This record gives sequence, C-alpha cells and structure tokens, in this order.
Amino acid sequence: AAKRGGRDRVSRYKAELRIAREAFTRISAGLRHAVERGELAVHYQPVVELPSGRVVAVEALLRWTPASGPVPPDEFIPVAEETGLILPIGAWVLERACRDARACRDARAWYERHGTSVTVNVSVRQLAEPGFADEVLAVLECTGLPADALVLEITESVFAGDADALPVALDRLRGHGIRIAIDDFGTGYSSLSYLHQLPVDILKIDRSFVPAEPGGDHSFTLAVLQLGSSRSLPAIAEGIETAEQAELLHALGCRLAQGYHFAKPGPAAQVEAAFARLNPAPAG
Ligand code: C2E
Ligand code: MG
Ligand code: MG
Ligand code: MG
Repeated sequence: AAKRGGRDRVSRYKAELRIAREAFTRISAGLRHAVERGELAVHYQPVVELPSGRVVAVEALLRWTPASGPVPPDEFIPVAEETGLILPIGAWVLERACRDARACRDARAWYERHGTSVTVNVSVRQLAEPGFADEVLAVLECTGLPADALVLEITESVFAGDADALPVALDRLRGHGIRIAIDDFGTGYSSLSYLHQLPVDILKIDRSFVPAEPGGDHSFTLAVLQLGSSRSLPAIAEGIETAEQAELLHALGCRLAQGYHFAKPGPAAQVEAAFARLNPAPAG
C-alpha cells in the first residue's frame, strides 16, 4: 500500500508539472503579443493619508485581458520575468503611467490639484538592465512628468540576492529626484541586515503584517513599522480592508495606507471619482 501511495504521489506530481508547463507556455505565447494587440491596461489604486483618507499617490497596477478573459498579475508577471518579456511590458507600463499622470495634470485634474505622485512597480529584471536609469529619465523627458512625481516600487527580495549593481542605478535615479519604495516590506530578507544601507525613500508594509482584527497580536506590525521609523522612512500599509484596520494602523504610528477600504484599483477615468470622494474640495 505504501508503494502504491508513493506511485500515486509521483504521478500526481508529474501531472502538476505538466499542467504548470502548459500554463507557462500558454501565458508566454499570449504575452508575446499582448502589447501590439492592445490587451494591456494600467489601473490605479489610491494611496491615502491616515486618518484623513486624503489621496497622496496612486499605484499603477498592470492588467492583462486576452480574448480568453483576464489573467491575474500574480500568474503572468512571474512568466514575464522568466521570459524577459517584462522588459518591453515594463517599459510600456512606465510610459503609460507617466503619460496618464501628465494628462491628468494637463486637464487640471487630480494630479495638479493634489500634487499626487504615481508609483510604478519595477521588476529586478528591468533594474538589472544597464540602460534602465536612462530609460526612466527619457520617459520623464518625453512625457513631461516631473521626477518628484514618480516613485518606483521594488520588491524587497531584490536586495537579498547578489545585487551590487542595483544601488548604483537607484542612486542615479534618486539623484534626479525619483523616489524608491520597497514593496512587500517584511516578507523578504533585507529587513534587518540591509535596511540601513538601502537607497530607499518609502517602505510598503506587506498586507500579511496588517492584523485582521484589532484584538490580536500587533507585535510584528509594530516591529516592522519601527524598523522604518528608525530610519525616518515613511511607511504605507498595504491591503487595508476595514475601518478597524485603518484605525489600528494609525494608532500604531502608520501615516499612509492603501486598500479596498479606501478604493479598489480602477482605470484612469475612475481615479477622478475616487479623488472627488476621498479629497472633497474645501467648502467656499
Ligand atoms: P503589489 O505591488 O504589492 O500590489 C498590491 C496588490 O494588492 C495589487 O494586486 C492590489 O490590487 C492588491 N490589493 C490592494 N488593496 C487590497 C486589499 O485591500 N486587499 C487585498 N486582498 N488586495 C489588495 P494585483 O493588482 O493583483 O497585483 C499583484 C502584484 O503584481 C503586485 O503586488 C505587483 O507585485 C505585481 N504587479 C502589478 N503590476 C505590475 C507591473 O506593472 N510591473 C511589475 N513588475 N509588477 C506588477
Ligand atoms: Mg506595488
Ligand atoms: Mg510588488
Ligand atoms: Mg505589495
């Protein structure tokens, strides 16, 4: 019976591998044409100030909708990174996001009224390209978006590997006024050993550190927030879904937050509505 069970496990494992390989092939084949087929879009989710709820930034989040229906970023981004397709796709996102932010500014809409910045997720594959910093500066130049309106989000695990070249590129971008945020902070390896030497401006606290209920144990949340405040880095709590969580994070000393409780990600046209709701114009 033990042998039989082992065989079952092996064949199940082989079946899973085959399915994963098929999914990889299907996604990478589809992604290859996503840009020219117009299947990509950028949605935006507000980042708000606590406790007022005033919007201070929007995060650009990539959406892919091929004819067969939407594919979540957690499924296609890893494939894009593995195949290198993240290079053209990431370049497309960056330009789209800067263009949208600039267009809103020209329309005297949310950007200009509120001095809002746009934050763009960048993969390590992009960052490792020797021309990356030049590419970002060129996009700012051609879209006319000021450098201080752009934040690049980099996943914490980037700093765990052999990343000697990264600080050079990051320093160069920061020298121009572009800010760098560490995404999913607390989930990687850099939290303790590297934080003091990372060239970063903002920490985004991963939503796994946001307690589900006010009554629970907050020691980890507090520890992560304190790591940031020890370097005077502003922290953004991700994945805030309830008013209780917003209050709790504020009570623990967090000044910025993002999550479905405030606004879900939506197309650029919806951002204006989110602003109207969250940043009401002063009376009179
Ligand atoms: P992320 O950068 O940490 O983005 C936050 C994710 O949390 C987004 O998922 C957002 O929709 C989701 N989220 C926001 N508020 C809540 C909430 O209250 N509850 C819950 N449960 N989730 C919330 P999304 O859009 O599916 O993106 C997933 C990940 O894909 C992103 O995580 C980011 O790492 C990656 N990604 C998205 N767009 C891009 C891109 O343009 N380039 C790169 N390199 N990665 C991207
Ligand atoms: Mg992000
Ligand atoms: Mg991320
Ligand atoms: Mg995150």
